[in-house]
Amino acid sequence: MEDYIVLKKLRRTPERNYLLKLIYERNDHFGAEDLFHAIDKNQFNVSKATVYNSLDLFLECGIITKHYLNNNTSIYEKAYGFKQHDHFICQECKKIIEFCDPRLYQIKKSLEEVLKVEINSHQLYLYGSCQDKACKGSRK
Ligand SMILES: [Zn+2]
Ligand SMILES: [Zn+2]
Repeated sequence: MEDYIVLKKLRRTPERNYLLKLIYERNDHFGAEDLFHAIDKNQFNVSKATVYNSLDLFLECGIITKHYLNNNTSIYEKAYGFKQHDHFICQECKKIIEFCDPRLYQIKKSLEEVLKVEINSHQLYLYGSCQDKACKGSRK
């Protein structure tokens, strides 16, 4: 972490350090609002604007990744040290399931050959309804 931020020349402020700590303590996908609400207001007085600005910065540095849901909201998750993965998003309950399918790697490889390009990253979102009993999209 430390090295990474130095490397990317991200100017560290106590607020940013604190936000990074909050992000790295969680293992979920979160919105800017979620992060804002997680701030211990007795410890740090971080404004909503600072949260948004910091998220943009972290995104630029590759510390977090951003996903766009199909209802105009965006969510974030930490990226550092994490494997490439894709997402299934339940349109009913907004649950997100992560998956990693090695066949996608094969597709990437063959496309690189066919298109004569080098693919560095990709985003794949699958939308539908999950089978959770609590989810109204469930047919059970
Ligand atoms: Zn994810
Ligand atoms: Zn669901």
